[in-house]
Amino acid sequence: MARNTGVSLLLQELAENGRLSRDNFAELIGRRQEARTEAAELAVRIQQRKSGKQVFRRALIECTNYCRNNCSYCGIRCTNRNVSRYRLPAEEILACCGKAFRLGFRTFVLQGGEDAAFSPDAVAGLARTIKARFPECALTLSLGEQESSVYRLWKEAGADRYLLRHESANPEHYRFLHAEDKPERTAEARKACLEALKACGYQTGSGFMTGSPGQTAEHLAEDLLFLADLQPEMAGIGPFIPHPQTPFAAYPQGSAELTTFLLSVVRILLPDALIPATTALATIAPDGREQGILSGANVVMPNISPENAKRNYEIYQGKISEGAESAEGLAVLRERIQNIGYVLSDGRGDFSATERQDAEPANRRKICTM
Ligand code: SAH
Repeated sequence: MARNTGVSLLLQELAENGRLSRDNFAELIGRRQEARTEAAELAVRIQQRKSGKQVFRRALIECTNYCRNNCSYCGIRCTNRNVSRYRLPAEEILACCGKAFRLGFRTFVLQGGEDAAFSPDAVAGLARTIKARFPECALTLSLGEQESSVYRLWKEAGADRYLLRHESANPEHYRFLHAEDKPERTAEARKACLEALKACGYQTGSGFMTGSPGQTAEHLAEDLLFLADLQPEMAGIGPFIPHPQTPFAAYPQGSAELTTFLLSVVRILLPDALIPATTALATIAPDGREQGILSGANVVMPNISPENAKRNYEIYQGKISEGAESAEGLAVLRERIQNIGYVLSDGRGDFSATERQDAEPANRRKICTM
């Protein structure tokens, strides 16, 4: 079939410049049915040029579901009284790391709500212990918004990476997603955290949900521009999935189709980034992991939390935690990845930058206006 010149040109421009105008991003998103095959082919080519057919793996440990925040999309928001709250003691987290290490994982991701019990000093101590016991492993934290001094403390304690999705780059949409939260929770504050993480030297991950309530193609265009400015080392993109005990219970879930298209676009935009085929995508589509990889993702994050933690870390309904999501399912995951012609890597999968030949090496612009 003949290529559609209009969208082909947009994709080429994106590949060459690492960005499009807001209007062109919105147009590309609007015309994704025409663009998706070519976008996926280009994304996969870019990804394979970088790291061949490797898929990196991270062991996800959901360490606490206590949270002081009240995000309207999230099942573990503080006002949801139906959640059975837990926090894993340090020994249990260390045991999870040990189990993951024996299974060949070389990155541990500690993710959780914003829980005061995971205090700056407690997390720093945990990071030091993990890095002392597993010196060859990378440690990723995903514990929400913190003071810059706390990010620095955790970095100095040994954390290598930090995941903090910006959620929405558009200030009004961000507030809509956090309407019942403290007024100081703004897009600006979230972006300032990401700038602080970058400044501390973390490999920093950002990202957003697709199909979140109130989201438009223009908002997504702003999200993409934000990523182009920030130049995160990692980017997480997954569909919004409603949780029944949230204000967004009645909204429809995001689609696999929009998610995979945006994965391709983000791969073209961030050629070197580590991009997961998310659990949310695997939750809404049985072959979501495969679809994600074939759209340009190169990371999987199986959940190795203990059973009770997995059950209660329900940020959205139906979150899968069996099969390829569990340690026991690792063999299945490996086989599924092999079946699409990829291999599960045993490496740490750190970020490394490839110099662009045809552009300034740092096409990153200052984004924080505060
Ligand atoms: N407290 C941490 C970790 C949040 S959980 C933080 O704020 O960064 C990780 C991600 O899950 C969130 O960033 C959000 O984008 C996603 N998420 C939360 N609720 C969701 C839902 N209902 N559907 C899909 N993804 C969701």
